[in-house]
This record gives sequence, C-alpha cells and structure tokens, in this order.
Amino acid sequence: MSSSDKKEVIIQGIAASRGIAYGEVFVFLQSTVEVPRYQVDADKKAAELARFDQALVTTRKQIAKIQGEVEKNLGPAEALIFDAHLLVLEDRALIDETIREFETTGNNIETCFNKVSSRYIQAFSEIGDEYLRERAGDLRDVAQRVLQNLLGQAENSLSRLADKRVVVANDISPSDSASIDRSAALAIVTDAGSKTSHAVIVARSMKLPAVVGVRDLTSRIQKGDWAIVDGYDGVVILNPSEATLFRYGKIQERERGFETKLFEANMQKAVTRDGVAVPLMANIGKPEEAKMANDYRAEGVGLFRTEYLFLNSQRVPTEQEQFLAYKTVAEAVAPQPVIIRTLDLGGDKPMATKPDLFPHESNPFMGFRAIRFCLEHQDIFKEQLRAILLASAYGKVRLMYPMISGHEELARANAVLGECMAELKERGQAFDENIEVGTMIEIPSAAMTADLLARDSAFFSIGTNDLIQYLLAVDRVNDHVAHLYEPTHPAVIRTLKHIVNEAHKKKVTVSVCGEMAGDPVYTPLLLGLGVDALSMSPSWIPTVKYLVRAMTMAEAKALADEALKMSSAREIYAKCEAFYRARVITE
Ligand code: PEP
Ligand code: MG
Repeated sequence: MSSSDKKEVIIQGIAASRGIAYGEVFVFLQSTVEVPRYQVDADKKAAELARFDQALVTTRKQIAKIQGEVEKNLGPAEALIFDAHLLVLEDRALIDETIREFETTGNNIETCFNKVSSRYIQAFSEIGDEYLRERAGDLRDVAQRVLQNLLGQAENSLSRLADKRVVVANDISPSDSASIDRSAALAIVTDAGSKTSHAVIVARSMKLPAVVGVRDLTSRIQKGDWAIVDGYDGVVILNPSEATLFRYGKIQERERGFETKLFEANMQKAVTRDGVAVPLMANIGKPEEAKMANDYRAEGVGLFRTEYLFLNSQRVPTEQEQFLAYKTVAEAVAPQPVIIRTLDLGGDKPMATKPDLFPHESNPFMGFRAIRFCLEHQDIFKEQLRAILLASAYGKVRLMYPMISGHEELARANAVLGECMAELKERGQAFDENIEVGTMIEIPSAAMTADLLARDSAFFSIGTNDLIQYLLAVDRVNDHVAHLYEPTHPAVIRTLKHIVNEAHKKKVTVSVCGEMAGDPVYTPLLLGLGVDALSMSPSWIPTVKYLVRAMTMAEAKALADEALKMSSAREIYAKCEAFYRARVITE
C-alpha cells in the first residue's frame, strides 16, 4: 500500500454519515483553496511556461469532452455554456497577462495565473450587466480547472473521478454534491460544514461515510495520501498503520454482515412488535431517485426537494420541464404518494447561475429563501404550482410549502395556489382538485402556532434540520458551532411534542423529514413523541425499519416520556443510543 512509508495522522472532525471507508485521497479544490507559491529558478522558466501551455491544452480537452457528454445527456442548449468556458481559454488578455506576471515576479505559474484570473473574476462580478456578471462564473470554473491541472489533480470533477477515491474538499456546494460520481466516491470529508449541510445529506443518501468540520485537512494532504474515514466517530486517519488497517478491516467486515441482514429484513413491513404500522418514506432530490425509493421499499416519497431541478440548471426550468419531472416521480411511485415540496432556494441553496435573483445576504438562512422567495417571485412560483397540479393527474401527488412562518403566509401561498387552479380550469387541463396541501414546520413561530396552521393543512411535515437551527440559534452549516447543534436538546423535544399534540387535536398527521428521521438512534424518540411517519434518504430505510420491527410502541412512548422530563441533551442522547444498541444485531 502506498501509505506504508508515511506517518499515520489521526484527525478528529464531526461524524456526519455512518460507515467506514479506506482509499486514496482526492482533493476537490474550490476557489478559496491556497495555491502554493514559490520562486522558479532561471533555468526552469521555459519548462514552467510549457507546463502552463500543457495545462491549457488539457483543460480544453476536458471541457470539450464534458461538453460532448452534456450535449448527449441533457441537450444542445445545456451544452452551450461550455462554449463560453472554451472561449475563456482562448482569451489572449488573460494568458498574456499571466505570462507577464510570471516574467516580472518569477513566481510559479499557478500563483501568477491565480492572481490574474482572480482579478478578472472580481472585475466581472462587479459589473452591473447580468451577462458579464455571469462570465465571472465561467471564468471561475475554468480557472479552477486550469489550477487543478497545474497542481497535478487532473481528475478535477466530482462527477468524473478517475478511480475509487476518498473525496476531501474544503466545502462542497449543493450542486457539486448532487453530481458526485456514485460509483467512484468512497467517502466525503470536508474542512467546513456540519451534519445537516446539503453535501452531507447527499452523502447520507448515497450511504457514503462522511466526516465534516475537519478544518484545514485539505491543506495538509499530500499527493498519494491514503485515508480511513470513520463516519461513526468522526475521525479521519491519514496513511494508517498496518495495525489500524487491521482493526478497521474487522469493523468493516461486521458492518457488511449487518448490511446483509438488514437487506433481508427490509422485505418485511415496518410494523412495531406491538402491531403499530409506521410509514417509512423516501427523501429525493432528482426524478431518477424515485427508483431508489422503490428499490428500498419506501411507502412513497415524503419529500421531493425540487430545488435540485433548478440548482443544476443554467436557467429557471419551464412549467413543461417541471411538469415532466414531477409526472415521472408521480408515475414511478404510484399508487404510493409523492409529497412535492415547493421551491426552497436561497439559504445554503442559492441558484449560482442567477445572482440577480439572490442578492448577497449576510444572514442567508434568516433571509430571502423558500416561500419568501416564491411569494416575491410569483411568476416562478406559479409556474411550479401549475406544474405540480398538472402532475397530480398522474398519481397521488401532495404538495407542501417550506419555511412557513405563520398562518398569514400559509394563506397567501394558498391564495396563489387557488389562482393556479383557476387558470388550469380555464385552460381545460386536468388535475386533482382535492390535492392534499401540507405545511412544513421548520420555524419556531410555525411550531408555536401549530394550532392555527393545522386548521388549513392536510398534514404537517417537520423539517428538523431547520427547526433545530432556528430553535437553538445554531447555523446548520457552521462548523464552529456544530457541537451546539443538538437534536435531543430539551427545547427540540418539547417543541416536537407540542407540534404533534396540536396537529393530532385537529386530526392532522405529522411526519418528520429532516435528517433526524433517517438516524435510527432517534427513531424510537420520534415515534414515542407521537410522530406518525418518517421520511429519509432511501438507503436508510432498512436500518430504521429494522429498529421499528425490533421495538414496541409502548417502549418508545416510555422513552419519550422519560426524555421529556430530562434536562440534558447529552443524557437524552445517551438514553436513545442505549435503546438503539440494545436492539440492533451485535455479532
Ligand atoms: C429540514 O429543514 O429539515 C428539511 C427537510 O429541509 P432542508 O433540509 O431541505 O432545508
Ligand atoms: Mg428545511
């Protein structure tokens, strides 16, 4: 193994997705990563310039290849963007200025290119004209590729890993994470981030082990490093010793045995030992994932995060494009339901290609996102609502609004929905006139007014990822406060109980679709608090189902009652974990 002559280094981060992986490290560079800076000897200057030339040629070939693939898979319009990328590489001003910078400073070519391209990016991004501003994005992307080629990291895209690799990044944007090559990524490690960042949600959905908040790991990695990623304890071990490898090999073996048993048990129904059925549904972000929901025997899709259709697109998808995507899912899971969530852009999911729609904010999670964005941009909102309604003619479609803060906002959203229904009727187009419309409870003000919201909601779906961040005032993607993000905080448990009580008084069902729902340690607590259904990344259904089948609802209720009386998040977590450990298979 290539790691044998290097010293083992153990680095503690935050456990974000369970599992163990071992493999060669691939560093995914983002624009903020430091580029090494050094002086080039006089006799190596020609070779340095040849290296630059070569990097430009390689980059051109890579972009042309990706362009061909995009054209084949997505169509010529989507492939056009890469013309702009290729043009950047032809830009004499950029190239000549880099060479001049090199000749004057004698610094390595990466440093020179980085300096010049950053200056251009900055200049473009400050221009008022939208077209030119978008060029800043193209330039950033291309500059990134050139730098990676110069630094010898040729396999520079998460969607095209050369081989099976542990992906280490300073951070991964939602759209980058959505394009991770499933067959090649072994694990995900990020310097930044916390347990509910979207990179982690994607990692969990792919059942990839993930460790986040490892601070400066990207800058400590050297070419050819290997790493063990321990997603249970949140540890990354660089260049592990033979003894460490042996120990982790044993853990992996046990894990595989458990997986096999889980898979067999997944054929059974999700019913507790005392006979209570618990619907386990799937969270998806792309229409193709509906198949995964079926493969894992989900009882429908409990959360379809529609923003991924937007994040991976150069423009706002049309009503027809959206309709086809929603119809695909509705038909794929029928007769089971699909709950389509209206757009939740903004926060950690701005649409990078549309900076004019998402102004810079100093507190994006508190700012212009989700339903707030939709109510301001009713043209975009209405296109989506009509597309969802049209898809409702092809399966059991439900609709829900994210980030509702109170009854007035819900009423405003419903009024827009009413207008869309009237428009479709006028057009003579079919849709389900009795479509169930639910509310996501993820803001404390919504939780406090659950009684009011329940009057006009067919169901509630609790978004614990956001609810916890807002209740505890802990930014869900900030690694400096990640240790304060505690799903078992008494405030969280009491709030969940309150929501369930108010909903049940009005016969409104309650599901949880945040990451808590896919973590089997919390399953008994949530069910004991009275939650009716759970929606999670499909690949977690077997583990959660195993636990549901191994417990009684009476035991879960007793656990929740006890937790409601406790004062420490840590102690409540320990109780939940003990409950879980006592019921999972141990070899
Ligand atoms: C949540 O907040 O729990 C949720 C499911 O929504 P998202 O993670 O997409 O914000
Ligand atoms: Mg949310």
